[in-house]
Amino acid sequence: RVLVRCDFNVPQKDGVITDDIRITSAIPTIDYLVKNRAKVILMSHLGRPEGTADMKYTLKPVADRLGELLGREILFVSAPEVVSEDVRRAADLLEPGEIMLLENVRFRKEETKNDPAFSKELASLGEIFVNDAFGTAHRAHCSNVGVTKYVKTAVVGYLMEKEIAFLGNAVNNPERPFVAILGGSKVSSKISVIDNLIDKVDVLIIGGGTAYTFAKAAGGTVGDSLLEMDYLDYANKMKEKAAAKGVKLLLPVDNVVADAFSNDANTQVVPAGQIPDGWEGLDIGPETAKLFADAVKTAKTVVWNGPMGCFEMPNFAHGTEAVAKALADTDAVTIIGGGDSAAAVNQLGYGDKMTHISTGGGASLEFLEGKELPGVAAANDK
Ligand code: AMP
Repeated sequence: RVLVRCDFNVPQKDGVITDDIRITSAIPTIDYLVKNRAKVILMSHLGRPEGTADMKYTLKPVADRLGELLGREILFVSAPEVVSEDVRRAADLLEPGEIMLLENVRFRKEETKNDPAFSKELASLGEIFVNDAFGTAHRAHCSNVGVTKYVKTAVVGYLMEKEIAFLGNAVNNPERPFVAILGGSKVSSKISVIDNLIDKVDVLIIGGGTAYTFAKAAGGTVGDSLLEMDYLDYANKMKEKAAAKGVKLLLPVDNVVADAFSNDANTQVVPAGQIPDGWEGLDIGPETAKLFADAVKTAKTVVWNGPMGCFEMPNFAHGTEAVAKALADTDAVTIIGGGDSAAAVNQLGYGDKMTHISTGGGASLEFLEGKELPGVAAANDK
């Protein structure tokens, strides 16, 4: 019996799965196990039920979709305690090549605490454990880390192998020039990644909300834009570090600013660092979009994590779209670090033009920080 941790944390609207890439990405490992006559027991989390059996987060829709995709029945035994007597019995009765899916592991409050008792309960269902959940690899929970202690063998699956190969190769053995593009909301969540990437890249591009702290640190005015005053020194240090290492640090030269945080706000384009009071930067401007796209043109490897603006509002999505298009147009190896950037690339229909779109936003960011991912380390240690 092979217990497989997948990342089936899929987006849903009114109970309908809106993007099943995380399910399709798990299929190579499942196919391999079925072909080799394993009794397959799948598990995953979905959303944040906060340790209660909130049926809004049941994995039933995932069982149905996976069944459709594989053209076979997936046995789904929903239990509030995840591992119940019925679940144990069903796992015992599985025939080789049959597939079963457990209920959302986050129905149990112990899951996110990496509690040994729940880890043992999960481990009791199988002899071999496969971790194929890259999206949660940066967390140490029962179903991806704790469980490895109580099984005979623990390994990573094909999706995990692919993610590690692409991200690892891009960061540690890139074809140069190597360009990294960072966006998103905050500098504080990108401290280590900026620091680590300056050691590795030829060009570092910083857009999104993160850039305003750099503009302020350079003596500019940023109006009501996202700003982290505690990180002004850090921003200047990173600039100095980039200069000392010969890394080109590209920041916005203009911004689309708005008089309210709304798609219908009045807007204007102003030079970066010259944002008037009462206005906030919600996107990179057209000159910046050109600058960033040009930097990508000559790259051989590009890694992108984080939107260039508030792309959820169409009027402030142009910068993110321009970067997505530039990546789609280049022959470089292009790696999209999950989360918002992956959603943007897919929404724009550029998904198949990218070399690799990671299934894990947070995990890929921690990978780019050079951190060891607990989910990978635990499987490798066994
Ligand atoms: P993160 O979770 O740090 O990757 O940030 C993603 C979020 O950053 C998205 O929801 C964007 O809307 C937001 N964001 C990007 N640029 C800006 C900006 N200029 N001002 C405010 N929020 C932004």
